Amino acid sequence: MAVRNIFFEGDPILRKKAKEVTVFDERLGVLLDDMFETMRVNGGVGLAGPQVGILKRVAVIEYGDDKLELVNPKILSQSGSVIGLEGCLSVDHKKDGKVIRPQELTLAYQDRHGARHERKAEGWLARIVCHELDHLDGILFIDKVIKDEKEGE
Ligand code: ZN
Repeated sequence: MAVRNIFFEGDPILRKKAKEVTVFDERLGVLLDDMFETMRVNGGVGLAGPQVGILKRVAVIEYGDDKLELVNPKILSQSGSVIGLEGCLSVDHKKDGKVIRPQELTLAYQDRHGARHERKAEGWLARIVCHELDHLDGILFIDKVIKDEKEGE
């Protein structure tokens, strides 16, 4: 496994739409293993392909007991909304901010072998899934940060 370079906000690759994975070969497995390693070394809970310069629809997540490798992930349904604080390995921590995400969702995805899976996620895991899927469409959480005065508290 190798640690890959993380691309930072300002790099145009983070603003591009990633492409569907159609080839499930050894290279894909190496990429996912490298992404897990890169995420851990940097203390993250999720990492998406574009963040390591790969414009493919892949992401890895490790949060609590949940370890997910997502290939071609899609949100099938979602419900509720929760405000929570987010940061990103590609964005300066000074820009951490509050974002509204669904409370729970159902996710479809493939693994490194192309097998299809479906699962539910809620709370922080649902938040991380949404954050990583946004990366695949060139969206960063800073695009969605809400200002404190809008919280109505
Ligand atoms: Zn991120």
